[in-house]
Amino acid sequence: MNLKILLLPGDGIGTEVTSAASCVLQAVAKKFGHTLELSEGLLGGVAIHKTGTPLPDETLQKALAADATFMGAVGLPEFDNVAPEKRPEKGLLGIRKALGVFANLRPVRTWPALVESSPLKNHLVEGTDMIIVRELTGGLYYGEPRGIFGDRAFNTMAYTRVEIERVTRKAFALARARRKKLTNVDKSNVLEVSQFWRRVVNDVAPEFPDVELEHMLVDTCAMQLVLSPRRFDVIVTENTFGDILSDEGAVLAGSIGMLPSASLGESKGLYEPVHGSAPDIAGQNKANPLGAIGSVAAMLEYSFGLMKEAEAVNTAIGRVLESGNVTADLKPKGAPATTDEVGRAVSEAL
Ligand code: NAD
Repeated sequence: MNLKILLLPGDGIGTEVTSAASCVLQAVAKKFGHTLELSEGLLGGVAIHKTGTPLPDETLQKALAADATFMGAVGLPEFDNVAPEKRPEKGLLGIRKALGVFANLRPVRTWPALVESSPLKNHLVEGTDMIIVRELTGGLYYGEPRGIFGDRAFNTMAYTRVEIERVTRKAFALARARRKKLTNVDKSNVLEVSQFWRRVVNDVAPEFPDVELEHMLVDTCAMQLVLSPRRFDVIVTENTFGDILSDEGAVLAGSIGMLPSASLGESKGLYEPVHGSAPDIAGQNKANPLGAIGSVAAMLEYSFGLMKEAEAVNTAIGRVLESGNVTADLKPKGAPATTDEVGRAVSEAL
């Protein structure tokens, strides 16, 4: 199979984990006899420096032409105090919108070798295996009107029926292929948008009679995620709630560096680790690349339907974790491995 993939390394550790992810992609292509057509583009702070904009048109055209796009991370401290529309993160929101990727899948699982790395008690986190599906192109982050006007500021949370239906269907379909349980998370005791969201989820439910649906308020969910994470199979929720809950999920996985993500639309897929550009450790070759490598596995599964290859990557990640040859954030027994070493170790374990 020909795999036409765009790499957007971005800023900070984004470039380092992308290089490790690319190493694993090449190993997969070699082992399973696929042709890789890799190209690179500019996004985020590096794009502002080179072109004056966080999402150059050339990058957008390359992403639209590729089968799938892999992104490292964006963000540079020098832009921390500039207006939102001039920040590197604007490129991230822009590319998600342009590719029409409306469902962000964040798998959260506890690897046996990492149970000790979670600050929660072992018996609580052991066996955790869920996917948080976050709506990605609507809600507060995009709603108009918005702005700061003198002594008043506001954002708008708005959703249409179509926006809710399509992400709900994706979440139901995922649950159907797993343990057949979907938890809808909203704030319908307070917000009209949430009341409407819940009504639309209920309207879609009869299309998936084999999947059990439950509703949960977002504050309860925040609590249940740490009290009883095993109870969840697939969670579906709107943009802001999903952003916050999925970072809470990072605690279950032991390190934010472990978390992969996939953003899916009707045809395109965008894959990125959940973490940011981590300026505090950038340039030191010590970032954990396993979230990025897990995102490669997600790409193989969701964009190319290559289940065997995806499973092989995840199995290789498990082997490397068992070997203890891991980066500093995972508290290795001996000297910590570098980002490059972990990338090579996963490729070899394939
Ligand atoms: P961050 O995820 O970059 O870092 C949070 C903490 O986790 C830091 O201590 C960092 O060292 C650590 N960490 C993150 N990834 C790691 C990895 N792979 N291995 C080991 N340790 C890791 O979040 P932040 O510090 O809040 O944000 C830094 C910049 O990244 C900001 O500019 C922010 O806007 C941006 N950001 C970008 C994305 C994205 O590109 N998707 C996501 C979140 C934040």
